Amino acid sequence: MVTGRLWVNWGQNQSCRPEHVAYPRSPDEIAALVKTAAGAGRTVKVIGSGHSFTGIALTDGLMLSLRHCDRILEVDHSTGLVKVEAGITLASLNRELAAIGLAIENLGDIEYQSVAGAISTSTHGTGAKFHSIPSQVEAMELILADGSTLNISRASDPDLLHSAQVGLGALGVIATVTLRCVPAFNLYSEERPWKLNEVLEQIDDLVDSNEHVDFYWYPHSDVAQTFIHNRTNESARPRHRLKAYYEDVLMENRMFNLVNWVGSLNQTWIPSLSGFTASQIGRARITDRSDRVFTNPRTVRFVEMEYAIPRSHAIAALRSVKELIEKKAFKIGFPIEMRFLGPDDAFLGTAYGRDTAYIAVHVYYRLAYESFFREVEAVMKEMEGRPHWGKMHYRTAHDLRPLYPQWDRFLDVRDRLDPERVFSNEYLERVLGP
Ligand SMILES: Cc1cc2nc3c(=O)[nH]c(=O)nc-3n(C[C@H](O)[C@H](O)[C@H](O)COP(=O)(O)OP(=O)(O)OC[C@H]3O[C@@H](n4cnc5c(N)ncnc54)[C@H](O)[C@@H]3O)c2cc1C
Repeated sequence: MVTGRLWVNWGQNQSCRPEHVAYPRSPDEIAALVKTAAGAGRTVKVIGSGHSFTGIALTDGLMLSLRHCDRILEVDHSTGLVKVEAGITLASLNRELAAIGLAIENLGDIEYQSVAGAISTSTHGTGAKFHSIPSQVEAMELILADGSTLNISRASDPDLLHSAQVGLGALGVIATVTLRCVPAFNLYSEERPWKLNEVLEQIDDLVDSNEHVDFYWYPHSDVAQTFIHNRTNESARPRHRLKAYYEDVLMENRMFNLVNWVGSLNQTWIPSLSGFTASQIGRARITDRSDRVFTNPRTVRFVEMEYAIPRSHAIAALRSVKELIEKKAFKIGFPIEMRFLGPDDAFLGTAYGRDTAYIAVHVYYRLAYESFFREVEAVMKEMEGRPHWGKMHYRTAHDLRPLYPQWDRFLDVRDRLDPERVFSNEYLERVLGP
């Protein structure tokens, strides 16, 4: 148990000083720690990999890290169901699944997150016929404030499962998660620069005729970089390790970091620097194992806001953000990302019940972001936007409630499972209420 040490998130925009940090190794140890802390009137938060930009994981009470609870517990090859300890990272899970011929159906941009952290904030990738990571959850074991364990499954209690799938860490400590996996697969991926207008004109066709479409628009330029991935039966032809290192680590990260660092010294240089970055985008074709295509190394630090909007608003949303940047002369050095997803069933899933487009804005971590994010948020509000729970936003329970048809059912479950608010913190009070 560590005492009184400062904790800072990946984006370096959130910090707290928990009274204690503990590293349990089993559900029994988790239960004992939670029960003792709750009995002493302390709050409890689990920290995953610290990759959320919001204060969702902060606590001044007991912080639990499940980094030692990181094993695969059961695999059923006939159903694809895989039960894991909640602290396993997506990176470890991807590697271990590949070794036994399985994979996660759809992933986000990175794999540093813990499984429980990823599902708790509605983490997603892209693909209009695909769904978020929490939608792949079939069951979980949740440890409650009194130390008891609740077994939740889609089959036995769908309401409870749909609440716990995206639980924001507000219901208890997830000890294990059972994920529905699929047979391992390869993706054929094409990356290329386009004119932004061309992408926007064809976006519906692109998204409907390909499995996974993701694009980045570089502000202060008319360049969009598209990534299109489709399943293939071809064998993996991974890039040579040195080529991958050069492209992903040196160019995509180190060079990009340098460009952003220079821009942070004098923000009037950012538009030219962004134009330079956009001009460096080339074409690439890769066939590789799915998780190696979906996810990438990310070492350049930034702070992000991401909004989920009805897919029908996608083009208008991007055009509005572009107008906003031009009208207010914001200097934005990071590309703006757009992704697409099918409807989700998690009550607080950001794609709950609707075909969704995601629009994400990023600011280099050394620069101020609030005025830009607030303006973007105003645009997204007009478009029935739901903020990513793990990315910066300024919304409150009052204005989030109308966006989620099952909001009150989630709150009922929260009242039932954590009436004393042992698992609450300032962020949860703001977004869910006291
Ligand atoms: C570089 C970068 C890239 C990203 N890319 C994507 C992306 O492509 N798509 C996307 O949707 N998001 C993305 N995110 C956001 C990220 O996926 C989420 O913020 C995710 O929640 C982080 O997981 P984590 O393990 O770090 O969880 P943390 O941030 O540590 O915690 C998140 C929440 O989960 C709770 N929690 C964690 N473990 C447990 C547990 N065992 N029981 C109960 N509650 C628990 C925490 O208390 C907290 O409430 C990205 C973030 C970064 C920094």
